[in-house]
Amino acid sequence: MPRRKRNRRIQVPPVIKGMSVFGVRGRKSNEVILHLEEYEAIRLLDYQNLTQEEAAVFMDVSRPTLTRIYEEARNKVATAFVEGRDLIFRGGDIYFDKNWYKCNDCKASFSDYAEENIKCPVCQSDNLISLNDYYTSE
Ligand SMILES: [Zn+2]
Repeated sequence: MPRRKRNRRIQVPPVIKGMSVFGVRGRKSNEVILHLEEYEAIRLLDYQNLTQEEAAVFMDVSRPTLTRIYEEARNKVATAFVEGRDLIFRGGDIYFDKNWYKCNDCKASFSDYAEENIKCPVCQSDNLISLNDYYTSE
C-alpha cells in the first residue's frame, strides 16, 4: 500500500494568482503550474532566507522532502523564465494555518480563525471568497 502523502503547511497564500510573460508577440504561452508548496518553499528559502532545516519545520515536512519540493519549484520557475511561459500558482498537497479570505468589494486579503459571520476588517463587507478553497481546488 502506498504511503499517504502528508500535506504541507502554508502560512500565507500568494498575493497574486500567477505571473504572465512580457514581450512575447503573437503567441499564447502554455502555463507552468507552480503548486502552493513549491511557491512556499521559494518564499521561505529565497525570500525569507531561511535554512532548509527551518523551512522544513515551517512546512511540517522532513528536510529531504523540503529539498525535493524546492528543486521541483526551481526547475519550474527556470522553465517559465527560459521558455517564456506564464506561471500559475495553484493546487498542491497543502493546508493553510488559518482561514484566508479576499473581500470582493475592496479586494483586501485577511485571515480569521472564525468559521462564520465573517466580515471584511477594512470595509465590513460580507461579500468574501475563501482563498483556502480557491488555492486547494484543482
Ligand atoms: Zn472589504
